[in-house]
Amino acid sequence: MKVSSFGEKLTQKTGILELMDDLGKAMSTHKHMLLLGGGNPAHIPEIDALWRKRWQEIADNSDELERMLGNYTTPQGDDLFIRTVVDFFKRNYQWQITPRNVTILGGSQTTFFFLFNMLAGKFPDNTKKKILLPLAPEYIGYADQGITEDMFVSYQPTIEYLEDHTFKYHVNFQDLNMTDVGAICVSRPTNPTGNVLTDDEVAKLHMLAKEHDVPLIVDNAYGAPFPNILFTEVTPFWDDQIIYVLTLSKIGLPSIRTSIVIANEEITEKLTSVNAIVSLSTGTVGQHLVMPYLANDEILKIGTDIIRPFYQKKAQEAIALFHQYMQGSNVPYYLHKSEGSLFLWLWCKDLPITSYELYQRLKKRDVIVVPGKYFFPGLQSDWRQKDECLRITYSSQDEEVVRKGLQIIAEEVKKAYA
Ligand code: PLP
Repeated sequence: MKVSSFGEKLTQKTGILELMDDLGKAMSTHKHMLLLGGGNPAHIPEIDALWRKRWQEIADNSDELERMLGNYTTPQGDDLFIRTVVDFFKRNYQWQITPRNVTILGGSQTTFFFLFNMLAGKFPDNTKKKILLPLAPEYIGYADQGITEDMFVSYQPTIEYLEDHTFKYHVNFQDLNMTDVGAICVSRPTNPTGNVLTDDEVAKLHMLAKEHDVPLIVDNAYGAPFPNILFTEVTPFWDDQIIYVLTLSKIGLPSIRTSIVIANEEITEKLTSVNAIVSLSTGTVGQHLVMPYLANDEILKIGTDIIRPFYQKKAQEAIALFHQYMQGSNVPYYLHKSEGSLFLWLWCKDLPITSYELYQRLKKRDVIVVPGKYFFPGLQSDWRQKDECLRITYSSQDEEVVRKGLQIIAEEVKKAYA
């Protein structure tokens, strides 16, 4: 069947699609796979119980269930929910926003598709613009979202070596070129590395965005104020130049597909128009579930007292175990400093094989991770790290799975250097 350029671009076999397919097949024949590759949030018992209770409450409230299930909202989102979001950010962060700054969309993946294709690609005057990802590695989910080719440009970071086989990436501001950039985008914390750009780095990116009059998109899938899977202090910051994207996915609600976008009025209007065309309106289940916890600020406690400690403990345990399994070897391995998100980023410096080959060796031993090469959308340089890194998900509920998986990864890494 012949499809349009749009159809062709969105149906092409991408590397990651093939990888996921491959994994699905492997899992159906090997039921005992140790899954350290996915991005699903963990089932935290307190969080599961919270949404079960709230679900029951909605069912018991006079007509809330019927209103939630039976009404379209405007394409901008539920009016009362939007006002609740505005009050929450004004009360807690003194952000100068009104309902004209908030759009509710069907998950942040969809949100980025709208934003990237609106702010970059081909323009009516035949110019072309790109999305600047100032620090690669970056989120794999951005890579194929452009409906035009070469939507992204990204840059190699600088590396800070820390104690005990640990390192941290920083934005290399010297290299950033703003020519033909339509917007800057960062995930903070970053998937896949667990890096958190410092407040200073965000301030500099903000300045750059202002200077060139382009939006700075902050992908807050793991950040503050919720879900708050952040192991370092950050100051949430917003002004007209920033598009702040939040999602309900990592507070235990990935399947209800709800994101919250805070942006200037022009962007809000445009996103609302796109949403009307593509979706008519956004599902309301997430908005109903979460509204009371935003209204009474409980969402802050949920993040700080339940979600963050849960993931932080898992991260610390995984890091300690991996170092323990690598003890006594001379392998020049490094873990990225874990500052948030659900992942460990392992860098095997001067790895004698590619990390894709390492992934295949691990798969043969029933351990699933993601090879690093998929996390460099838009990076032109032939950086060796593309083939030296793995993303390892530490957040699985089952400690034994993580322990066994890390042990096998350590064995295979050592073998690769032997
Ligand atoms: N951004 C980042 C950095 C992510 O890791 C994810 C999903 O894991 C998303 C965006 C998409 O999240 P959702 O579409 O569930 O809101």
